Amino acid sequence: MASFVADVHLAKLAKLLRLLGFDTLYFTHIEDEELLKISEDEGRWILTKDRALCKRAKQCLLIQAKKPKEQLKEVLEAFKLTRCNPFTRCLVDNALLESVPKEEVLAKIPPKVAQWCEEFERCPECGRIYWKGSHYDRMKRFIDGVCG
Ligand SMILES: [Zn+2]
Repeated sequence: MASFVADVHLAKLAKLLRLLGFDTLYFTHIEDEELLKISEDEGRWILTKDRALCKRAKQCLLIQAKKPKEQLKEVLEAFKLTRCNPFTRCLVDNALLESVPKEEVLAKIPPKVAQWCEEFERCPECGRIYWKGSHYDRMKRFIDGVCG
């Protein structure tokens, strides 16, 4: 499966790709040289709106759209990505989430959530806890729309 490294101006696109489970690196500050190096070393596709940068890369997709959701569609279509693994990666750092027993997260989640939610995931990198909260349904509809 294709993996990506997104240019600095594509933060929202990177988040959406992670939401769908696609391996996507993103750095708030990074030089072109470093992007090119990561792309070559790890075989990642650069996602960028910078035509000049794209020309220098071995693997690059030039993003045209302005809106993140449109940009996401460009990526999915370009790589024919029809199978997603949504809610499997940390949106902050791209790490794969691990399921964690409720007892272990009780102290870190809102009491209201503890009342109804039984399944939790934790990021091994940043410790962030994920659960299928109120935004889940909305995201799920969006994901079903783009991934089928
Ligand atoms: Zn994380």
